[in-house]
Amino acid sequence: SAIIDFKNVDKYYGKFHALKDINLTINEGEVVSIIGPSGSGKSTLIRTINGLEKINSGQLIVTGYDLADKKTDINKIRKNVGMVFQHFNLYDNHTVLENVMLAPKIVLKRPDDENKKIAMKYLEKVGMADKIDSYPRQLSGGQKQRVAIARSLAMNPKVILFDEPTSALDPEMIQDVLDVMKFVADQGITMVVVTHEMGFAKKVSNRLIFFDSGKVLEDRKPEEFFDHP
Ligand code: ADP
Ligand code: ADP
Repeated sequence: SAIIDFKNVDKYYGKFHALKDINLTINEGEVVSIIGPSGSGKSTLIRTINGLEKINSGQLIVTGYDLADKKTDINKIRKNVGMVFQHFNLYDNHTVLENVMLAPKIVLKRPDDENKKIAMKYLEKVGMADKIDSYPRQLSGGQKQRVAIARSLAMNPKVILFDEPTSALDPEMIQDVLDVMKFVADQGITMVVVTHEMGFAKKVSNRLIFFDSGKVLEDRKPEEFFDHP
């Protein structure tokens, strides 16, 4: 069933028309890669899904909440929708473990012992259990991104948005992060991923959207896209 549903969505930055009449339904458990040229609106598209960018018209329903409705509490959506950024956005003054425990503590009021157990479980999954007392500045880009993914997972979200998660990484770090993203996909979490990684788009995602000039140009299964005559 639909977990993200865009109907006739438009987004402007001043006079600039960034999203043009978007109609797009994403179902639970789908792993969607979004590819397209720089400046085409990919980041804007996913940032509307958790309300980081407001839409100007149309309807956008995310995990049952209507983002076009001013009465909607955006925090309810953000409980369900995690986000992983290109530049990690970790809390620099907190350790790795604290980074993962902070939102569940504050937003979900998860008790400390349970919170730590869940945080450790995901830090183990992303291969960062031996760095729990490190600060972000002591980590490589790839390690930071794996912590950011563990932080997202610890909130038990229904959806995780990824905005070019490997674009700021040295080449040798990219595969580790892609492996962790494959793990996230295997959990059945709905993923919307802006990426230039064709290997991920082809092998892990089950839907590929080519975006250009604020519009969906193609929307296909990866095998259809890549085996095109
Ligand atoms: P992409 O992710 O495909 O590179 P973006 O969604 O970041 O594209 O940007 C789409 C267009 O909207 C670009 O021309 C960009 O300069 C513009 N844009 C993005 N954010 C803003 C903003 N906050 N204010 C004005 N223009 C913006
Ligand atoms: P990144 O390289 O991390 O994707 P960007 O440089 O595209 O970041 O954008 C960083 C921030 O600046 C975003 O919040 C985006 O919305 C905003 N932004 C992007 N393009 C413009 C623009 N033309 N005018 C104003 N803000 C913009």
